Amino acid sequence: MTDTRDLDRRFVFHPFSMAQGHEQSGALMMAQSAEGCWITDDSGKRHLDSMAGLWCVNVGYGRERIADALADQARKLSYFHGFSSMATEPAAILAERVIAKAPDGFSKVFFGASGSDANDTQAKIVWYYNNARGLPNKKKIIARDRGYHGVTVLSGGLTGLPGLHAGFDLPLPMIRHVSAPHNIWTRNAEEDDAAFSARLAQELEDLILAEGPDTVAAFIAEPVMGAGGVIVPPEGYFAAMQAVLDRYDVLLIADEVICGFGRLGTWFGSERMGMKPDLMSVAKGITSGYAPLSGVLVGDKVWQVISGEGSAKYGAFGHGYTYTAHPVMAAAALANLDIVEEENLVERAGQMGDYLNDALAKAFADLPIVAETRGKGLMAAVEFARPTRDGWQKFDPGLQVAPRIVRAALQDGVISRALPNGDAVSFSPPFTVTAEEIDLVVSTVRKAAGAVC
Ligand code: PLP
Repeated sequence: MTDTRDLDRRFVFHPFSMAQGHEQSGALMMAQSAEGCWITDDSGKRHLDSMAGLWCVNVGYGRERIADALADQARKLSYFHGFSSMATEPAAILAERVIAKAPDGFSKVFFGASGSDANDTQAKIVWYYNNARGLPNKKKIIARDRGYHGVTVLSGGLTGLPGLHAGFDLPLPMIRHVSAPHNIWTRNAEEDDAAFSARLAQELEDLILAEGPDTVAAFIAEPVMGAGGVIVPPEGYFAAMQAVLDRYDVLLIADEVICGFGRLGTWFGSERMGMKPDLMSVAKGITSGYAPLSGVLVGDKVWQVISGEGSAKYGAFGHGYTYTAHPVMAAAALANLDIVEEENLVERAGQMGDYLNDALAKAFADLPIVAETRGKGLMAAVEFARPTRDGWQKFDPGLQVAPRIVRAALQDGVISRALPNGDAVSFSPPFTVTAEEIDLVVSTVRKAAGAVC
């Protein structure tokens, strides 16, 4: 029989993995099949996946309906493209459906295949927009520390996690970062939500003024930060930030790659968190991970310039991927959205999210090294730190507990995730997760934390 573990160890270059360590030790888990929230590995052991893969399998694994949609579309029209005004039916139907769900003021969808390429497309759209308006110097993009926007040359720099820049000469020179709204590490002890939001908005304004408002094109933010630590902004944060952006003619890009399509209990995270973006990036939840598909949603204000001055100056829009508007991916998305709607999964994500966040808060309340349990909808995290007389102190990198907790929980059959910046364990289960499954996740991870700490 083929030893697939050996093949993996020898030939696969793994993302976000220790190069030599993987070659020596091989895969931590070899997933073979999955159903609902459960993955079965190559030894037959079942694991409860509290991360929905990488925050993406929103409708759960093993949906025949999406598998059928993929197969049917592959048989009917396996591929065609959207270049030079060519089109396919599934992409057209999907675009209308996405725009109908989006907040008011969105006109068009530009499809891609990943969250990273969506954010690269965003940068190009923003630059094109300002070039078309005769503002060639207005190009800088401001992101946030701990933000996660992908890993391509542009989006990898927007990502505000130093570990993703190291060794890659990122970020590119037109990218800047401001502080994350993190309760433990950036909020001052005496600050309420309004004061915290006002200070972060002031930091943004100071940066725009220091750079020169005529050089700043856009600000990009996730409604709730995901991979940077499930960071939920304080009440009033986006309103305060948005007032600054409006003052200096700076576009707001909402990175909805995790939050979009229901994870916060609303169709888009922007709605729940009070953002009024000009542009939105979506991916993951649009197909629940059954096929790689992303979208850039373009608001009317930007579209008017692209289709007006932009077309007049530059002719055809010179950007697109071979797989832009891929019909098989679009068919998967349509079947996925049918399931989300018919099973009221957006509402369910909100309800089960409350359940998850309550359960985590109760289970971890007594552990002295828990700095915070936090979340919104079906995104949650537990952050660990050392309590000191003056507040919290980060564990040294070699002594971080989150990776050890995640490993111990995996031994006990629960998949969670240690986040790359700081010492947090995160959760983002499928929207179909049950209360019993959440209880099992929380008790297993709590037990692992007790054993490790
Ligand atoms: N934006 C956000 C908010 C994400 O969470 C991710 C991935 O986790 C990305 C962008 C990048 O998406 P991809 O990994 O599909 O390139």
